[in-house]
Amino acid sequence: MEQAAQTELLGLELQELTLLVEEAGQPRFRARQLFEALYAQRVESAEQVSTLPMEFRRSLAQKGFVVGLPTIERKFGSSDGTVRYLMQLGDGQSVETVWMPEGDGGERGDGSEAERAWDRATICVSSQVGCAVDCQFCLTALLGMKRNLTAGEIVGQVCAVLNDQHVSPPQDRVNLVFMGMGEPFLNYDNFMKAVRLLVEGVGIPESRMTVSTAGIVPRIYDFGAEAVRPKLAISLNASNDELRTRLMPINRKWNLEKLMAAAREFPLRSRERLTFEYVLLDEVNDFAQNAREVVELIRGVRAKVNLIALNPGPGIAFQTPAEKRVLEFQNTLIAAGFPTFIRRPRGRDIYAACGQLKRTVEMTA
Ligand code: SAH
Repeated sequence: MEQAAQTELLGLELQELTLLVEEAGQPRFRARQLFEALYAQRVESAEQVSTLPMEFRRSLAQKGFVVGLPTIERKFGSSDGTVRYLMQLGDGQSVETVWMPEGDGGERGDGSEAERAWDRATICVSSQVGCAVDCQFCLTALLGMKRNLTAGEIVGQVCAVLNDQHVSPPQDRVNLVFMGMGEPFLNYDNFMKAVRLLVEGVGIPESRMTVSTAGIVPRIYDFGAEAVRPKLAISLNASNDELRTRLMPINRKWNLEKLMAAAREFPLRSRERLTFEYVLLDEVNDFAQNAREVVELIRGVRAKVNLIALNPGPGIAFQTPAEKRVLEFQNTLIAAGFPTFIRRPRGRDIYAACGQLKRTVEMTA
C-alpha cells in the first residue's frame, strides 16, 4: 500500500482546520476542538486529542496528518538558567530556540511590562534556518541561508519549549522575542501567520512579543499596518552609513536615511516605544562620537535603546568593549533623554546569547 505523505497540522489556522474537518465529513465544531488541542493544550500527536471521536483521530493518522512539533534534539543548560534547545525539523534541518527564565533586561523599559523576576521569562524564537543578511559580528551569518521556517515550525518552537518547561500561557506569563536565527522580515508571511496563531491559539498577548529586524524597510511599513503585531526592534548597530555598510551589508540596499524614515513613520500605539538595538564592538562603533551620532539619528523618535556588548565567537573579528565604554555610551544616550538599557548576556557559556546561535552541537555545557 502506498504511504500517505505527511501533512503537519501545526501552522494551520482555524479556517484551514475547518476545511479539513468538513472534507472529512465531520461537523465544523471539530475544527475548534482541533485548534484548542494544537495550540492551547499543545498535544504531541493527533491520538492525544481526546475531544475528537476515536474513529476521526484514526482517520487523521491514516491520511498522514501529524502534529508536527519540532523534536528537541539536544538541550544545553547555562549556569545562569538559560537553556539553548537544538530543535530538529521534519526534513532533518535544525534551528535553535532559547529559554531565558529571567529575560535579558531587553524586555524592560516601555512601561508595558512588569519588572518582577517571575514575570520576565522569555523565549527567543528563530525564523529561518541560517540567515542571508551577513552581519559581520553575527555567528548565524556564517551558516548562510538554508531555508525559511514554516509558520508551524515557528509556532512549534514555542510549543515545544512551553511543554518542556511545563509553562502554560495565559496563566503563566511569557515573553517572546523573534530574535533567534534568521531575519523575520525576510520570511514575513510565515512569521506573521505564526504571530496570529501564538496570539489566538497559544494565548500569548502581542504586547509581550517583540520582533527584531536588521532593517528590511518595505516590511517595516507593512508591519506598521498590521492589525495584530508585536513590538518592533530595529538593529541599528552603527551611527553612520559608512560604518553600517561595513558591519551590515544590507545597509547598501536600505541605508540609514531610508531606515530612519520608516522608523519615524512607524505608527506606535499609546505608551509604545520603538526599540533600537546597538551591538557595541570595541573601538569600532563604541566611541563617544558614535553615541552622539546615534542621538542625532533617533532624535524625535519615541524610542528606547538596548545596548548589547558583543558576544564573541569563533570567526568573529571583533572584540567586546570594556564595561567602562559601555557605560559611557549608555550615559550619552540617557543624557539625551532616551531610556537606554544594557542587555545582560544570557547563556554565553553555552553559545545561547545574541548572535551566537549557530547549531553549535559540539559545544556542550
Ligand atoms: N535578524 C534580526 C533578528 C536577529 S536579532 C536582526 O538582525 O535584528 C539578534 C540581535 O542580536 C540583533 O540586534 C543583532 O544585532 C544582535 N547581535 C548579532 N550578533 C551579535 C553578537 N555577536 N553579539 C551581540 N549581539 C549580536
